[in-house]
Amino acid sequence: MSRVAIYPGSFDPFTFGHLDIIERGSKVFDKMVVAVAYNVSKNTTFSIEERVEIIDEVFKDNDRVEVDSFKGLLVDYAKSKGTNIVLRGMRSVSDFEYEMQMAHANKSLDPGLETVFMVTSRKYSHISSSLIREIVSLGGSAGDLVPEVVEKKLKQKLQN
Ligand code: ADP
Repeated sequence: MSRVAIYPGSFDPFTFGHLDIIERGSKVFDKMVVAVAYNVSKNTTFSIEERVEIIDEVFKDNDRVEVDSFKGLLVDYAKSKGTNIVLRGMRSVSDFEYEMQMAHANKSLDPGLETVFMVTSRKYSHISSSLIREIVSLGGSAGDLVPEVVEKKLKQKLQN
């Protein structure tokens, strides 16, 4: 049986921290589905379509990583993908509370759903999408924090 894990998130923008979790997740699961979530309450820099396109570009040569987007409940989306595994990254204690709450909420919606946490690699634990947006909008370089395609698109968006 092949093990598919959903890696959901905003990815606004996609960072080396996200990439690290996907690469390590690929060693544990047979297939990873990177699922960009529609979130009505978040004002995003990139549209859903732009985020999917950017992440697709990063994984264009990797057929074990699928890039997709979803609306509605994660538990329903996971079912539609034929899996009960959700992978999330954990950077610090401050992530813990929110992640626990989400995991419990999802478990009560679908007791069969399992959320698996992977602790962030130390060198990426300080990276957040909001920090990157701030650096680039102030004219700084994010080359050490995000893939090249992300930096290029961010500059186009935030520095014009
Ligand atoms: P969300 O809005 O759902 O939290 P994010 O795009 O911020 O979406 O994060 C998606 C997932 O990636 C979450 O599990 C988050 O904890 C994890 N993550 C975010 N930044 C990093 C990082 N620097 N290293 C590893 N994991 C990260």
